[in-house]
Amino acid sequence: MTRLVNDPRRFAADALHGFVAAHADRVMATPGGVVRASAGDQGQVAIVLGGGSGHYPAFAGWVGEGMAHGAVCGNVFASPSASQVYSVVRAADNGGGVLLGFGNYAGDVLHFGQAAERLRAEGIDVRVLPVTDDVASAPADMTGLRRGIAGDLLVFKVAGAAAADGLDLDAVEQAARRANERTRSMGAAFSGCTLPGATAPLFTVPSDVTALGLGIHGEPGIRDVPLGTADATADLLVDAVLAEEPPRAEGGYHGRVALLLNGLGATKHEELFVVFGRVVERLAQAGLTVVAPEVGEHVTSLDMAGLSLSLMFLDDELERWWTAPADTPALRRVAAQEPRRRELVEQAADAATVPGTSESHEWAGRLVGLLEVMAQCALAHEEQLGALDSIAGDGDHGQGMVLGANGGLRAARRAHAAGAGARTVLIEAGAGWSDAAGGTSGALWGAALTAVGGALDDSAAASSARVVAATRAGGQAVTRLGGAVRGDKTMVDALLPFVEGLEAAHRAGVHLPHAWCAAASSATQAAQATADLAARRGRARTHGTSSLGHPDPGATSFALLMSAIGEALTIDSPTGELP
Ligand code: ADP
Ligand code: MG
Repeated sequence: MTRLVNDPRRFAADALHGFVAAHADRVMATPGGVVRASAGDQGQVAIVLGGGSGHYPAFAGWVGEGMAHGAVCGNVFASPSASQVYSVVRAADNGGGVLLGFGNYAGDVLHFGQAAERLRAEGIDVRVLPVTDDVASAPADMTGLRRGIAGDLLVFKVAGAAAADGLDLDAVEQAARRANERTRSMGAAFSGCTLPGATAPLFTVPSDVTALGLGIHGEPGIRDVPLGTADATADLLVDAVLAEEPPRAEGGYHGRVALLLNGLGATKHEELFVVFGRVVERLAQAGLTVVAPEVGEHVTSLDMAGLSLSLMFLDDELERWWTAPADTPALRRVAAQEPRRRELVEQAADAATVPGTSESHEWAGRLVGLLEVMAQCALAHEEQLGALDSIAGDGDHGQGMVLGANGGLRAARRAHAAGAGARTVLIEAGAGWSDAAGGTSGALWGAALTAVGGALDDSAAASSARVVAATRAGGQAVTRLGGAVRGDKTMVDALLPFVEGLEAAHRAGVHLPHAWCAAASSATQAAQATADLAARRGRARTHGTSSLGHPDPGATSFALLMSAIGEALTIDSPTGELP
């Protein structure tokens, strides 16, 4: 619902007042809406946008250099009146004619049209452009009936850039019409919005449903489908928009698209990015190139949950206007920078890789194999570890271990492919682990791997004694960095028995793979015994006693991974020879 309200009837006016105060360097209030605060566009075609309020940043947020000259702001979800339009145009006019841009809704068409009549009668050349991007609102052969939704941003960006280029009114109107003809959107909603002062939403959507094709004022959707994954939702939107892709190599279109993935007001940016990941994958599969995408809230509908995908099928000119600089409260674009070349960054990393001797390189290959085992083990226990961590922590330990082990594995593979020996491969794996995992355990595992690597070298295969010493170095890195001691209920409670067990078995002359298995079973017992402890470290500390009766997640994962390595070592080397 909309919670922060003074007088519901004044909500739109109060919001506009605050908006102008916040952006006084760019916009200034005028009866009916806002205009640019800066002068100096003499002779330029003025772009005046408008519609109901409740859609911020549409439309006032787009007033500024490179985009609109003025915005007419109606009441919440209500078209502004003709006299408001008239008044804003009078204030925004630069003497070069005016293009009025708005969404294709009956009220807006009437009021903007009426204002245009009056302005023309007074000698101002005015053109009107109702945006019609929403594919859900009418069939493809009746585009004139379609309503305008988030595609407004793409169309008005082009219009503003064309005006900033100094084109005359005919040319600006033509550019804007072409942008509109080339723009398609499809929306989906998960909940309705609540008008300021109202206690119930305009409509509701059941929690397991996606309302496809819903408008931005709570108009009904065209089709309800079961709520699927983010990817499935992305697919629905992409399919609907791509169904109207124009033929390639016609009209200057060669598969390059401007893109807006728009949140309706109550859908998180992170959710949008999850969807966007799939959208770009689908578009790449379709052979399309995405140009300067926008992912965020650009045409909202109060607190509605949902999103829409808009594409503009570009030609060279449209692309130039879409990417041209703009400086408005809600959309800022600077001139494009030369992109950093990813291949160069990776080449630099490879060039910096210390090459190992062939003996050490071969040995490093086995270490990569053990990292694979660790990654598989983490994946197999992801859920179990997450559940343990949710008892007194934040539930992310399973995920952290999977991400970390895979990040470590990727980095190790890359270093190995670049010719590295054992030391370098493990040092890189440590960095890759902590980068990918984040979190407390990620940092500790990263430091441990790096320390193990630091105790090896790039010139020879390590002896059993060297491996045991390196393992101790790994353990020391964890206690040094984390500061935990035995009994704090952390991974240290499994790690110390492991290192001690490995050293003892090695001293007793047990071959490494078997010594490793013996140490891993000590770690497993020790991890189980942490159930009797209350946490004194890490996130679980604040919920110390609630973890009583449950083993520590970090100790548990440590024991699981060491056991998996032990098993792999014995399979590799059943006789106990060092692999
Ligand atoms: P986060 O606590 O950042 O969410 P994880 O959930 O991945 O990280 O890991 C939690 C585990 O990290 C705990 O179960 C514990 O074993 C370990 N841990 C937390 N703090 C320390 C520390 N100071 N030293 C050693 N291990 C720690
Ligand atoms: Mg956690």
